[in-house]
Parts: sequence; C-alpha cells; structure tokens
Amino acid sequence: MTTTRFAPSPTGYIHVGNLRTALMNYLIARKASGTFILRIDDTDPERSKEEYVDAIKQDLEWLGLHWDRVERQSDRLDRYAEAADKLREMGRFYEAFETPTELDLKRKKQLNMGKPPVYDRAALNLSAAEKEALRAERGNGVWRFKLDHERIEWNDGILGGISIDAASVSDPVLIRGDGQVLYTIASVVDDTEMGVTDVVRGSDHVTNTATQIQIIQALGGDCPRFAHHSLLTGPQGEALSKRLGTLALRDLREQGVQPMALLSLMARLGSSDPVELRSDMAELIDGFDIGRFGAAPTKFDVQDLFPLTAKHLQSLPLADVADAVADAGVPAELAESFWAMARENITTLADLKGWWDLCRDGAEPLIADEDQAFIAEAVALLPEGPFDGETWGAWTKAVKEATGRKGKGLFMPLRKALTGMERGPEMATLLPLLQVIRARG
Ligand code: GLU
Repeated sequence: MTTTRFAPSPTGYIHVGNLRTALMNYLIARKASGTFILRIDDTDPERSKEEYVDAIKQDLEWLGLHWDRVERQSDRLDRYAEAADKLREMGRFYEAFETPTELDLKRKKQLNMGKPPVYDRAALNLSAAEKEALRAERGNGVWRFKLDHERIEWNDGILGGISIDAASVSDPVLIRGDGQVLYTIASVVDDTEMGVTDVVRGSDHVTNTATQIQIIQALGGDCPRFAHHSLLTGPQGEALSKRLGTLALRDLREQGVQPMALLSLMARLGSSDPVELRSDMAELIDGFDIGRFGAAPTKFDVQDLFPLTAKHLQSLPLADVADAVADAGVPAELAESFWAMARENITTLADLKGWWDLCRDGAEPLIADEDQAFIAEAVALLPEGPFDGETWGAWTKAVKEATGRKGKGLFMPLRKALTGMERGPEMATLLPLLQVIRARG
C-alpha cells in the first residue's frame, strides 16, 4: 500500500517551500488511497519546540491536508540506537574525533589541491588505544557510516536516472558526540519500519538520499521510490531561502490568502500543466501527477496567490463566508445581497469591511465642477425607497430623460458621486445597499 510522509523539523513555522513537499506527499497518498503520515523530526531537543509542532498541525489543518497518523522521532530513539548497534556490528560504523576546525582545515587543503572536500577516513586507522586517548581528551567521538565506494543509483520520480559516486561523498555522521541521533539514520529507520513507499522532498536532499540508500541496504530494508522537487526561487529567479521566513503559511493566511488558492498554485507550479484554480481537494488529487514536474528551479511569486484567492472567493456561496460577512458588520438581512455585490469586487475577505463601510457610511462624493448641477438634478429625481435591483435602471432612465445625458456622461458622474470611485461594483446591485440613500429614499 502506498504510504508517504511529511517530515518537518519543528524548529520554525512551515513556509511555501515546505508546503510543496507536504502537498506532493499528501496527493500521492490520497490518489492511491494510501496513508499519509505526519512525522515530526524532533531528534534535536534544543531546536525542536512544542509550539512549532502545534503550529505545523494548525497550518496543515487550515489547508485541509489531513494526516492519518502522527509519528514523533523523539519517541523512537531506542529504534535508532538498535539500528546503530546493527551497523556497528557489521563494521559499517566508526567513531571519529576530529574537531570542526580540524575538519575545516582538511577541507581547505583538499580544495587547494583541487580535490573534492571528502572526509579522508583518518579515524579508520586509529588503534583502540589511540581512540581511548582521544576519548579521554575530547569526549566521545561522532559516529560515521562507512559508505561502500561504488556508484549509488536510483530512478528519481522527478529528476530521472541519478548516479552518484559514493567516493565523492563524505561518510555521513549519524550520531553526534553528545549521543544525539541525526536525521539521516532516524529517517531511514522510520521510512523502513513504517513501510514508506514514496519519499518526495526537496532537491537539497539528493546527497542524503544517496547515503540513505546505502544505509537502508545495510539494514536490510526496502528502498522507497524517491522524488526530489526543485527548490523555489523568487519571481526573478533569486534564491528564496532567506525570504522563506516571511513566506510562512501563517503569514499568508494573515494576508487573506485562501487555502484553495495556495494549494491550486502549489500543486501545479513547476509542472508542465498550467496553474488552474481547483474547487476542492478531490479535483486537486485527481489532477496531480508527479511525473509532470521538472527539475528546473521553480519561480514563486506570492502575488500570484491573490488573483487566485479573488477567483476562489467569487465562486463561493454566502454560506461559506457568512462569518466573514457578519464580522464586516453586515446585518443578516442584507448579507445575501451584500455578498452578491461584494464578491465580484474583493481580493481577500479583509476587503469586505471597506465595502460595507462604504454602503453604511457612504463615500466622500467625487463631483467635478461641471457636474454639480447635473448631480443636484439627479438627486432630486431619486425614486422613493425602498430600493431594489430595479431602482438604478429606473432612476438613470428618468435622469437621462430630464437631462439629455447618456452613456458614460450619464453613468460615470453618478457612480463617482455615490461611491467616490471611478470603478467598482455594478451600480444596480450596489444602490440598494447604500444605507445613506436608503434612509433618504
Ligand atoms: N526533517 C527533514 C527536513 O525537514 C525531512 C526530510 C525528508 O523528507 O526526509 O528536511
């Protein structure tokens, strides 16, 4: 059975980059009627925070990306220790004592000599006595996984055939000197034991994947299918990594972005299919195909979310936005007609308040000098209330007959006098909502 997971580290809020990973894994699982696991990668006790775990769950719930179960790496430390023991017994695990400064120096020397900066495995030559002495002097060493120096190959769901020479990669550290288990091994143990069949993650993990494939093989597990999506860049192709902090999902929610707009964009951005607003999750699942995604960096422009949000809102019945309409101050008896007018004219729900304020308080009229007399005449012709959808037509007909004005010369000054703007809602729908005039009528 298809099983995928989204595995964030709870060290911050999740952003659009993480969302891409979450969504792809979610859609693969749902499309195959499989299982979607939310895995909290919290092996780092210092940087992992409970508030971020809660925030990640809230953000996923807001988007409707429901998980089938939650797993926490901090609950599974004994499993990782067991796997580490196994690697040790197999002779694939060795302790190394270099300090970060020493490693840095080695790297610099290698680079100077035009060699790739790969760990030289000096620790493999240490005798038991030397290790004992180093341990006494420096404390416990780190544990590195001894890669087999051969080519590591897989058929990537997005990148296609990948082949990496293991000799060009440093033996990965899987356990730190203080005993902290690192993601590289924890993830392998989890993926294997939880039956994860498909792993989609960012292309910054490609080298990890190479080493993890060897660890999986050493532990006798089955390799999942891997797919690495490209990383997002800004609209001009600039690196987004530093700005991702401002593209947290909760910031977008705060700015009024609608989940369906965000999901629709993210399910297609970087693929050969056009971005289309989808009306619900079922449509997203149906239209998703990982094979349509390309390896090139994907441009993301936060501004694209707003037209999609506007379009999504336009499609909603009042029932879906009744709370927001009420929050804007609209009385229940006007909610239906207000929403019919407003939904064509908002980008986010936050714009509702402005339209209601206009309806309730009227606008600062915009009347050109040469229109003063015309407007006065028109006002005198306003029919008796209550106003309805026919009022605008009847009124402008009367004004046209009385003044001889027509077309733009007739409608524009009236619009500007009533709304203070040159553009805006259909006047026929707006007029019955203008409380000031209603009262007068
Ligand atoms: N916790 C890892 C990350 O956030 C998970 C990567 C993976 O999907 O394996 O980068």
